[in-house]
Amino acid sequence: MNVLVINCGSSSLKYQLIDMVKEKVLAIGLAERIGIEGSRVKHEVSNMDKIVIEEPMKDHKDALKIVLDALVDEKHGAIKELNEINAVGHRVVHGGEKFSGSVVIDDEVIAALEECIELAPLHNPPNLIGIRACQELIPGVPMVGVFDTAFHQTMPSFSYIYPLPYELYEKYGIRKYGFHGTSHRYVSARTAKLLGKDISELKIVTCHLGNGASLAAIKDGKSIDTSMGFTPLEGLAMGTRCGDIDPAIVTFIMEKEDLDIKGINNLLNKKSGVFGISGVSSDFRDIEQAADEGNERAKLALDKFDMRVKKYIAAYAAVMGGVDAIVFTAGLGENSPVNREKICEGLEFMGVKLDREKNNIRGKETIVSTDDSKVKVLVIPTNEELMIAKDTVELL
Ligand code: AMP
Repeated sequence: MNVLVINCGSSSLKYQLIDMVKEKVLAIGLAERIGIEGSRVKHEVSNMDKIVIEEPMKDHKDALKIVLDALVDEKHGAIKELNEINAVGHRVVHGGEKFSGSVVIDDEVIAALEECIELAPLHNPPNLIGIRACQELIPGVPMVGVFDTAFHQTMPSFSYIYPLPYELYEKYGIRKYGFHGTSHRYVSARTAKLLGKDISELKIVTCHLGNGASLAAIKDGKSIDTSMGFTPLEGLAMGTRCGDIDPAIVTFIMEKEDLDIKGINNLLNKKSGVFGISGVSSDFRDIEQAADEGNERAKLALDKFDMRVKKYIAAYAAVMGGVDAIVFTAGLGENSPVNREKICEGLEFMGVKLDREKNNIRGKETIVSTDDSKVKVLVIPTNEELMIAKDTVELL
């Protein structure tokens, strides 16, 4: 069974065609700059050179058409006919309170997704556009929606409620939803497998540390707290997002800097985080390099980032009444031994002992704690696409 996994962003469409019998990626690619000048598709088929198709794409339907053509292309294709795509799995960012798991997409689900647009005005519309483009271009192929928020729907009410007037939750659905759920679910399941334990016996803190970053407290295989909130702005300091700040700062800056809602949203989402502190970049590699060269603000940005991850780990251990495993994943989590070390430093009191030598790896499933460490520390490359494809197969 071949599953096409699609992840639509506002001006991009990422895809993977996965043979689920062999769990093998047949093709992978990215359509970018959709709707703007210079649009292109980067397309790669296993054992072949990557190609770049430069063609105008006015919308996601145009992009998907080019992707589908590339998948069946005589020279660069991965399959002969489009009917070899047996199902499509869509990443959908927000499922609100309606979706606590993946679903087969039908008209009713599409209507429910439209209702969720208010909660994710930037993310859900492109997801819906991708779903509609598939309906038009490969009609009849069954589709499944896999939500970033679904895994966190197991959070108890005292985790997700904000200390605001309760009517605001009832009126507008203002509560913590959490994101990166597919990644947290994937790495926690892999953790159990690697440790040879049943997930129901484990207390795990998963650290998804990429440009966007979040932690989750996972007990008995269920998310019971997570650091992102009503939106993906809450929690850690991120590439360009501020994460937790005193909410009074928001109105203070608006007044002092004469910013409107758009202006303050832009500042908190695009100009803050490690980029805001360092003034160097939102890319951790650049910041690490600047810090190595003695840039004090770059050092400060990394210290802030690491300290906040550490704080959340300890907080989640408290919430779960202990922790058996801490897992690092995503761009920085998978690839930065230095940051992993700094985050674990000082957690020895909880039984965390990092093995410096084992920790010196990038992007490979590894247990990086010492053999006698009470808390296991793992690096597990995330694979949201495989998880989406697995859910798709399971539901169909
Ligand atoms: P993601 O959002 O998961 O793609 O992660 C992107 C982030 O991971 C970027 O800020 C990168 O700088 C960071 N990253 C990727 N590779 C490395 C590396 N080798 N060392 C440090 N950070 C890295």
